[in-house]
Amino acid sequence: MARARILPLFVPNWGCPNECVFCDQKRISGSPLPVSGRDVTAALEKAKGERLAGLELAFYGGSFTAVSPLLQRELLEAAQPYRVDGTVAGIRLSTRPDAVDEAGLAMLKSYGVQTVELGAQSMLDSVLTASGRGHTAADTERAAGLVKAAGLKLILQMMTGLPGSDRGKDVETARRIIALAPDGARIYPTVIVKGTALEDMWRAGTYAEHTVSDAVAVCADILPLFERAHIPVIRLGLNPTAELSAGGAVAGAYHPALGELVRSELLRRQAEKVLENVPAGFAVTLGVDPKRVSALIGQHRSNIAALTEEFSLRALAVKGLETAGESIVLVDVSP
Ligand code: SF4
Repeated sequence: MARARILPLFVPNWGCPNECVFCDQKRISGSPLPVSGRDVTAALEKAKGERLAGLELAFYGGSFTAVSPLLQRELLEAAQPYRVDGTVAGIRLSTRPDAVDEAGLAMLKSYGVQTVELGAQSMLDSVLTASGRGHTAADTERAAGLVKAAGLKLILQMMTGLPGSDRGKDVETARRIIALAPDGARIYPTVIVKGTALEDMWRAGTYAEHTVSDAVAVCADILPLFERAHIPVIRLGLNPTAELSAGGAVAGAYHPALGELVRSELLRRQAEKVLENVPAGFAVTLGVDPKRVSALIGQHRSNIAALTEEFSLRALAVKGLETAGESIVLVDVSP
């Protein structure tokens, strides 16, 4: 079934009591202004004027349930007429695990909120502490249980490459998130955003950058775990914004097509298994579903170059093969 179109409204981090080292929410969301009921009305009037219907209104960017209950109600109240006239089909929001309780969730549900996204980020307390998160993994487990018990859909967000983490710890976080059986997940490899504490740590040499290739490697470990558990990963990598692209992202795993790079890496790993027994010096043609040809070739032919070198091949070509399905097949192997 097609997903409803999302209308995002960014609640800046002024509702948040915390200073996570990686966070400059105003910069990430591209919205420096606090949102109010009037903003919600204006955004929905515009959507209505454009004859958009069945939208999913999304309060993103901060910690919705950490802002005052009065403001939460103001924002949700403003959306109600548009639920009645069909402009809004659902409401989702993101928040911190330690800002969730039963009464608050019941209030959200009474206003038509259907989905709550929790920023778990890591399931290791040592990583959460090093990242200034101000909550524990147990808080995430408790909050996830409350969201599900309230009959709301649960999305869990995790990050890779946080201070104090490594590839193995990121995989462990993924496993513990999967064990909480969310309805979906988002994976955000750490980006060093200008003006954050993380930038200071990186410049001082107390934090090592999580590069794009680090992120691709660990996400290629993690993604199949979610797939096997039938948990959709609805986002991989920060949404590119003009500001981040223009220097707001000073280092780290910022890439506009990170998901593509990860899918390409997964295909490279799959091709490695297929090429295992091919003698050195041979020329090989691999067949793959036509939709996956360019991902197997890799950006700037990176997979072709890497596989050719790894297996000392004379040549390596890829062709579309309707019958390949999920596999990569050897179409031709010549001395
Ligand atoms: S909890 Fe969220 S909004 Fe608050 S500082 Fe951390 S990342 Fe930013």
